[in-house]
Amino acid sequence: MFFVIIAVTCLLAIVVIVFVLGVRPKDLPEPEPVSPFAHLDERKAQIYENLRDLQFEYRVGKLSDEDYQTTKKDLQKELAVVLAEVDRIKAGLGAATEVKKSPAPKKADPLTCPHCHAHFDKILKFCGECGKPMKAVKA
Ligand SMILES: [Zn+2]
Repeated sequence: MFFVIIAVTCLLAIVVIVFVLGVRPKDLPEPEPVSPFAHLDERKAQIYENLRDLQFEYRVGKLSDEDYQTTKKDLQKELAVVLAEVDRIKAGLGAATEVKKSPAPKKADPLTCPHCHAHFDKILKFCGECGKPMKAVKA
């Protein structure tokens, strides 16, 4: 317990020093809500940082072997969740682009009737299905 208190105190001191010396509020970057990954990237970076800190504290003897292993496992579990979420969003975006892409070529296709969407092997003046002119009529 004594070591945990020391570790927490050190961490707090480091956070305060870094905040006072390094990051003044006006220096903080503008938040970017555009990317759906932004908050996940932030969390990923945070987890990596925590892992680095953990490794450092373990190496300098601040943590017991058990504490180190347990915390490391927790962080890695959290990291896996974040990475899975990123993959899920990426897959979702990919599917969305796919859906957007596919209807576009139909419009310009001279082999497909613009009225009934019947498809032919060669360019026709009039559709063999509905008899209307195959070229898109401008209104
Ligand atoms: Zn037709």
